[in-house]
Amino acid sequence: MHTNNKAFVIGSGVAGLASAIRLAVQGFEVIVFEKNNYPGGKLNDFEKDGFHFDAGPSLFTDPQNIEELFALAGEPIEKYFTYSKLETACRYFYEDGVIMDGYTDVEKLSQELFEKTGESPTAIKKYLQLSAKAYKNIGDIFLNYSLHKKSTLLKVPLLKALRTAKKGYLFSSLNSYNLKHFSDVHTTQLFNRYATYNGSNPYKAPAMLSMIPHLEYNEGVYYPKGGMISITRALYMLAIKKGVQFHFSTPVQRIIVDENRAIGVVAGNKNLFAGVIVSNADSYFTHKYFLQDNRLAEKMLKQERSSSALIFYWGINREFPQLQLHNIFFGNNYPAEFDAIFKTKKLYNDPTVYINITGKCEPGIQAPPGKENWFVMVNTPANNGQDWVGIKDQCRANIISKLSRLLKMDITRHIEREKILDPVLIEDNTSSHMGSIYGTSSNSRMAAFLRHPNFSRTIRNLYFAGGSVHPGGGIPLCLKSAKIMCNLIEEDKRKWKKN
Ligand code: FAD
Repeated sequence: MHTNNKAFVIGSGVAGLASAIRLAVQGFEVIVFEKNNYPGGKLNDFEKDGFHFDAGPSLFTDPQNIEELFALAGEPIEKYFTYSKLETACRYFYEDGVIMDGYTDVEKLSQELFEKTGESPTAIKKYLQLSAKAYKNIGDIFLNYSLHKKSTLLKVPLLKALRTAKKGYLFSSLNSYNLKHFSDVHTTQLFNRYATYNGSNPYKAPAMLSMIPHLEYNEGVYYPKGGMISITRALYMLAIKKGVQFHFSTPVQRIIVDENRAIGVVAGNKNLFAGVIVSNADSYFTHKYFLQDNRLAEKMLKQERSSSALIFYWGINREFPQLQLHNIFFGNNYPAEFDAIFKTKKLYNDPTVYINITGKCEPGIQAPPGKENWFVMVNTPANNGQDWVGIKDQCRANIISKLSRLLKMDITRHIEREKILDPVLIEDNTSSHMGSIYGTSSNSRMAAFLRHPNFSRTIRNLYFAGGSVHPGGGIPLCLKSAKIMCNLIEEDKRKWKKN
């Protein structure tokens, strides 16, 4: 039986914050335990000599997930968080000199791709219509409900969604699907890139991921004022407002289980008790260390991990007018790049490079006047014990040579400040197993079903929210995982009351 109205949340990543807010709104007394001395997990920031850097996520889509939290809490969002829609989702640079803008207006986008590559505008429009349809018919069900509870499955048209998914979305890869829609190689590569949004390989991941571009081109890409850290700040302030208590620098050591029921945690060497326990920490880590369930932890390792990343935070001593907020410099051999990440677990020598510059949206604020804050990222394999020191040096040299070539200028002499994040540090900072940034990959058609559920199948009162559980990684999905999980608690609460 549910014993008290207290809920513990382990971890204050974006899903932990959203869970805490939702549980407080549901009437729980909520306490969050966070091992770090700051909230946000991967969604954090730092400053170096006037250069501000968002340390992790940089792309913001689907703001409704955040608006919904403020509406639920009865607080005006504009008091905490403002954001604006971008005209261009990303600027794309190719080795053959093609440069094109991913406009967040379908008409303009189709025209741009036609002018730069000859791709048929009709093909682009049709692709994005199908993307919207898939998002509505499949995504809505897969992303908003637990796929692991009979009670919820009976309520929603899952079978219909599954039938739609099977029709060409589960049994072919994203790349095969894109090849069927586009004749131009640049366009195919651009739309293949969306597999990386949850750390996957477009040559393996199902065509279902073709629904991701819907969010960017039909719905929009946004810039949160103050940078991505504003999301963490806004959710943290909202949680405080709803009475959530935070214990920072307080790692949870264990979840206390009595007769297959989670009844509390050991944190700061104290036994503390609550009626509901939510783990926002990586689900492998939760089972291995908090529950000491080696069997289940090992079983989880059968699911391939998502990619990780190497990030170079560079303070740049001049402005680059040819760059935007989001920029991609594509590698010249995309299949080889993904083979290296997922098969040989190495780094290809001409990797696709992503540069995010928040100073483009807030000049003089995100970086000193006349300078730029570059967040430079390449996708890497998850940490398997590779020699990251050697890889970092080689990768840095490869990035500099690529950017200098495509920007037609030696950029080495413009790097004024530098800090580097690698997969080992990502794991250390947030206990994400092997430094994977999105939990498990979507590199198989079953991946969506094999992610850990939002509840424990064996331990009552134990729930999960975050990038390593259903429906997956990335801010929008993490926020949805908190919603799915809290809806399950609400249902269970009704059952507890009846008993
Ligand atoms: P996490 O951020 O993983 O946080 C988990 C929290 O649990 C941490 O604060 C950790 O300290 C805490 N914790 C762990 N163990 C304990 C313990 N024992 N006791 C107490 N607390 C504990 N997503 C996007 O949407 N767009 C992007 O552009 C994007 N880019 C990314 C780039 C990088 C470099 C990285 C690293 C990630 C990126 N992501 C992006 C992914 C996104 O950041 C994550 O999916 C999301 O932030 C994960 O949130 P989470 O709630 O699962 O928890």
